[in-house]
Amino acid sequence: MRKFTLVNRGDENSQRICSEIKDKLIRAGFVMDQENPELIVYVGGDGTLLHAMHEWVDDLDHVYFTGIHTGTLGFSTDYTADEIDVFIEDISTKKAVIEEKRILQANCVNDTKELTIHALNEIRVENIVKTQEMDVYINDSYFETFRGNGMCISGQYGSTAYNRSIGGAVIYPGLDLLQMTEISGIHHRHARSLGAPLILNPDAKITFNHDDFAHALLCFDHLHIHLDGYHQIEVSSYSKTMKFAHFNKKTHLERLNALF
Ligand code: NAD
Repeated sequence: MRKFTLVNRGDENSQRICSEIKDKLIRAGFVMDQENPELIVYVGGDGTLLHAMHEWVDDLDHVYFTGIHTGTLGFSTDYTADEIDVFIEDISTKKAVIEEKRILQANCVNDTKELTIHALNEIRVENIVKTQEMDVYINDSYFETFRGNGMCISGQYGSTAYNRSIGGAVIYPGLDLLQMTEISGIHHRHARSLGAPLILNPDAKITFNHDDFAHALLCFDHLHIHLDGYHQIEVSSYSKTMKFAHFNKKTHLERLNALF
């Protein structure tokens, strides 16, 4: 893992730290390779990781990610900006522990085209303009008709992100699961859906069908598309995973404690 590239948040501080890391890595014998890197060093925070993952989504089977946080808090990052020398020492002398994270995929279908997107944190069908009705199928079997603002599908990694804010469960690493969580579901005698997060096998396929997704968005990590004209969104696991390269021993509990 000697060939690296860097992705940073774009602010002045992250850019400065990024160029310091680059110089120190090259001095330590690493090779900057923007075309075919093995290691993506992201400098910023959790949002920077999402940008980096989407930039390298086609190369996920042969790139590894490691992060330096430039603020005070980072869920995914292993080092802070004042630990750059420790990072250089660790990466030069230690063998990385690899941690794989599931990537989600959505196929969106309308009358004329099909679009595929990917996400690390979550995929959401969300409509804040009007009540979104949709039929939910699990592995092609009818499950329920949902009415409300929308649905969020996340894996273990994204369980601490948007999913947690809408009452979904935080999933511990090692439990490779999907979670479907309602966003402001309507529950009364004429409209009823599960009303609780549903935990699914990682190979589950969740399909949302409706003839009118007008005004709804498909949000995937920090990105979104408009769903006007689409009538089916099928969410499942992507065949590739994202791989963290950890050079220090930060436990999940330490990450959770730092964040919440
Ligand atoms: P962003 O990049 O500014 O992130 C928003 C917050 O979510 C930040 O505090 C970030 O540290 C945190 N975060 C991101 N991924 C996380 C994870 N896996 N575990 C714990 N915390 C995490 O915001 P953005 O660019 O609009 O969206 C990126 C991500 O931020 C989305 O994928 C979504 O999960 C999350 N987000 C959460 C909320 C919420 O909880 N209400 C709202 C908007 C976005």
